[in-house]
Amino acid sequence: MRSRTIARHPDRPGPTVSLLQPSPFASFADLEREALSCTKCPLAATRTQVVFGVGDPDADLLFVGEAPGRDEDLQGIPFVGRSGQLLDRLLAEELGITRDQVYIANVVKCRPPDNRDPKPDEIASCRPYLEEQVTLIAPKVVVTLGNFATRLLLDTDQGITKLRGAVYPVGGVQLVPTFHPAAALRGGGVVLAQMRADLVRAKQLTGLAS
Ligand code: URA
Repeated sequence: MRSRTIARHPDRPGPTVSLLQPSPFASFADLEREALSCTKCPLAATRTQVVFGVGDPDADLLFVGEAPGRDEDLQGIPFVGRSGQLLDRLLAEELGITRDQVYIANVVKCRPPDNRDPKPDEIASCRPYLEEQVTLIAPKVVVTLGNFATRLLLDTDQGITKLRGAVYPVGGVQLVPTFHPAAALRGGGVVLAQMRADLVRAKQLTGLAS
């Protein structure tokens, strides 16, 4: 069982304490098994399947998105739609890796109907799964994609535009906030360039060769 110590920075948004607790789960597979049968929030009634996460549970790099969309709900795999295709392309172009070399998860593991934003009670119900994923994967770097993941893991109300461009130490993990790929698809060149720069930052922190 792995645990971490808190490294709070008073001048920066800090991690939530529960992120840093030892995991009660003996293994990642145990955690996944429990999540796959979760009925803790109303999204359980409308989902096709739980989208727990994908990739290498021993990865140095963990990406955290918002919530599954329609494609993800049908396939049970995060980031398989247009946003996911962009993420895959950026992984290849900026880090020289494929998605099976990282771990990819979401704040909320079940699709909110009509792709609406996840509600606070849904995020609260699902949050322990993400916290356990962080604890058990113990990545060197967490890249948060967009406002929901960034605000949750940094325990802040600030927006991604303000927060990105910096690295936030969270108890032994370096957190790199960046835009959600959907924002880059909508926002065009400037957002995409900033996202690329954030991924290069994450790559350097991870120690991946350039
Ligand atoms: N957007 C997300 O935040 N997560 C997914 O898995 C797909 C799209």
